Amino acid sequence: MSARVLDGTRLADEIRRDLAVEVAQLVAGGVQPGLAVVIVGEDPASKVYVASKGKACLEAGMHSETIRLPVETTEADLLATVDRLNADPRIHGFLVQLPLPKHINSERVLLRINPTKDVDGFHPMNVGRLSVGDQTAFRPATPFGVQQMLIRSGIDTKGMHAVIVGRSNIVGKPMASLLVQDTPGGNCTVTICHSRSRDLPAITRLADLLVVAIGKPEFVTADMVKPGAVVIDVGINRVTDPAAAKGYRIVGDVAYAPVAEVASAITPVPGGVGKMTIAMLLMNTVQAARQARGS
Ligand code: NDP
Repeated sequence: MSARVLDGTRLADEIRRDLAVEVAQLVAGGVQPGLAVVIVGEDPASKVYVASKGKACLEAGMHSETIRLPVETTEADLLATVDRLNADPRIHGFLVQLPLPKHINSERVLLRINPTKDVDGFHPMNVGRLSVGDQTAFRPATPFGVQQMLIRSGIDTKGMHAVIVGRSNIVGKPMASLLVQDTPGGNCTVTICHSRSRDLPAITRLADLLVVAIGKPEFVTADMVKPGAVVIDVGINRVTDPAAAKGYRIVGDVAYAPVAEVASAITPVPGGVGKMTIAMLLMNTVQAARQARGS
């Protein structure tokens, strides 16, 4: 069997086009959705990501702000920036890019964000709303992107046994919250695994839908996958490759080629889940603008 490839680049473009239409309607009604990103310090990976977010916002017709603060910014100053964004009517959603410098308590900063503007969906209020199935909750971008890939690829998850490998607060746990809900792209029976799970291959082989988010290059091999399963690879790992121009290449948590022989559908890395993240952040910002307007 050779699996169908779920193309994140194409699906993210499709979502961005849909969003541009929705943004135009909101703008015609007097509301331009606005997203702000706060970045503290000079983390190169974060800088690239933040620049891509800004560009995607402008292309969708949204208002975009990037607030760059020096690495020596105090926690009090960062909290004051959060307060200002909480009060700014042009900003419907914002996030503070992680990781933050060590002298700042990320938890306190996260808790200060008004949950109605928390488009990352990491505030405990949104985590709780998501878990009780409240549709006004903001869904964290990566698992939300996975769910949209499934829906937009016509994969009916109803009744599937979904096995999620990885229990982080940004991927594994919210993925479980989404897949268990009684909504499109949900209605799964969900199992979550982690590094202490006993006999992991025996569990992953039960999966109709296998979502892997552990950060271990090509960890999931073909013998761990049930024939015909849908395999979603969230992992992004850099591995040394002297043959590559940059001396490295990016691989997922799944051994792509052999698993593609067993699975019915699979996401590539790169070009899969990772491509969806920014599109989902924009979708959350449009949702925030609609909710702020009361519709
Ligand atoms: P974390 O490091 O926060 O969590 C990793 C999880 O994997 C933990 O729950 C850990 O278990 C589990 N784990 C680690 N090793 C094993 C193992 N051998 N067997 C079973 N479980 C294991 O990672 P994240 O969730 O933040 O990210 C996971 C991957 O996804 C990374 O490669 C990251 O780069 C990528 N990622 C991609 C995104 C995107 O596409 N945009 C966004 C976010 C992440 P335990 O809890 O027991 O330690």
